[in-house]
Amino acid sequence: MRTFLHSAACLLLIAFCSVAMADQPKLKALIVDGQNNHGVWPKTTQMMKSYLEGSGRFTVDVATTAPKSTEGFAPKFADYDVVISNYNGQRWPAETEKAFIDYVSGGGGLVVVHAADNAFGGWDEYNRMIGLGGWGGRNAKSGPYVYFNDSEKLVRDKQEGRGGHHGKQHPFQVVVRDPDHPITKDMPRAWTHAQDELYDSLRGPAENMHVLATAYSDPGTGGTGRHEPMIMTIDYGKGRVFHTPMGHGDYSMECVGFITTLLRGTEWAATGKVSQEIPKDFPKPSEVSQRKYEEK
Ligand code: ZN
Repeated sequence: MRTFLHSAACLLLIAFCSVAMADQPKLKALIVDGQNNHGVWPKTTQMMKSYLEGSGRFTVDVATTAPKSTEGFAPKFADYDVVISNYNGQRWPAETEKAFIDYVSGGGGLVVVHAADNAFGGWDEYNRMIGLGGWGGRNAKSGPYVYFNDSEKLVRDKQEGRGGHHGKQHPFQVVVRDPDHPITKDMPRAWTHAQDELYDSLRGPAENMHVLATAYSDPGTGGTGRHEPMIMTIDYGKGRVFHTPMGHGDYSMECVGFITTLLRGTEWAATGKVSQEIPKDFPKPSEVSQRKYEEK
């Protein structure tokens, strides 16, 4: 009898949880892509779409520009809780750029992944949204370099120099600087990211920007000797922006640390909260953890 009651209680609990999950409305996400100096972008868009949908927390649409023109590109940003940029190409039509500014400043979520922070070097409002960027003509006029020094102090360095650089690709350790933020909460304080380009020397307005995690850019692999931002949030008007310069290759995006950061960062950008837990196969301080992506 006791076993029966126990089983019945379990069934009730399972039923209740299923109802609770079903009741949580899915967040609407839009990935923008279409032009990128990273030829793998069609695959990385599909990978991010699959991760987001697979979490059960998001529905995902994709808006793609023509390969050599953005004429007529006009996604309805306002229909979405969060926009994820996998785009590094030509400027959008003026009315689309205005709609994008209105969307983010009005409280929309934005996620910036890897080369998306190379885009739009001359678009001031975009640079304010992403905090820091690289290449695209960025220099001292774009804003300071921002990094942690060896004394764990956040430095805003206004010296001359171009924005954007990386050394040789390699796996590297990501160090959480703020363990209390919803995106980084419960993450190991250090974890090893799979092979990637470790972006350094990014520069930009960096207004209302919070650096949640960094990685040491080792001069031994062509880096700066500084602790470079790897997970950032930026407040832009009423909008929330999550920015990671990680994600160069499909292999980089197979990292469970990247996947988890993307899912949590996207949920945070959409809602200001994170309900997704750190998975059991999350990378260890000195151990990479990847999930092989199967193309559909
Ligand atoms: Zn890259």
